[in-house]
Amino acid sequence: SRGFYIGRFQPYHNGHQSVLERIACTADEIVIGVGSAQVSHTVANPFTAGERVLMLTRSLADLDCPFYVIPIEDVQRNALWVAHVRSMTPPFDTVYSSNPLVVQLFIEAGVNVRSPEMHERLTHSGTVIRQRILDGEPWEHLVPPAVVDVIHEIHGVERLQRIAGSD
Ligand code: ATP
Ligand code: MG
Repeated sequence: SRGFYIGRFQPYHNGHQSVLERIACTADEIVIGVGSAQVSHTVANPFTAGERVLMLTRSLADLDCPFYVIPIEDVQRNALWVAHVRSMTPPFDTVYSSNPLVVQLFIEAGVNVRSPEMHERLTHSGTVIRQRILDGEPWEHLVPPAVVDVIHEIHGVERLQRIAGSD
């Protein structure tokens, strides 16, 4: 069986990693969708799809399950979103998501949905991590080491702090 997991991964963090490590034991292969792929360089979505692919691929290098990382752009019609996702991904039979809209759209499409347990959701949240980066507070312990490397390589802290400023 092939599983599907989607997020924006702005940035990819230990909550996502924990879920994917758990899924890896139950599926033969995992398809990971990088959502809102066309958006970058905003305070809510600082990183490009390519940078997020790098974060995921490096962090999952030791996963004992083959995986595919596929950027997926937004479509402006939720009713067409599942077909759009399917047009971009290898076929999958089970979706792992706790996001209410994602769950609803896949259930309506007749797809098997499982909702994984959250991993320390209060601290392990993209919103919290972006705010900590902006405020100059420690954030490195909330993401896999490979994500720290990628964010430093692309000067991501400086990017986020500059685009949050005003002119
Ligand atoms: P943001 O605050 O930017 O929305 P996020 O932490 O919710 O970031 P997303 O990329 O939106 O991250 O999430 C992708 C998927 O990962 C979502 O289905 C979300 O519910 C799930 N997720 C997010 N944080 C955790 C966590 N700590 N443990 C388990 N799953 C998580
Ligand atoms: Mg979210």
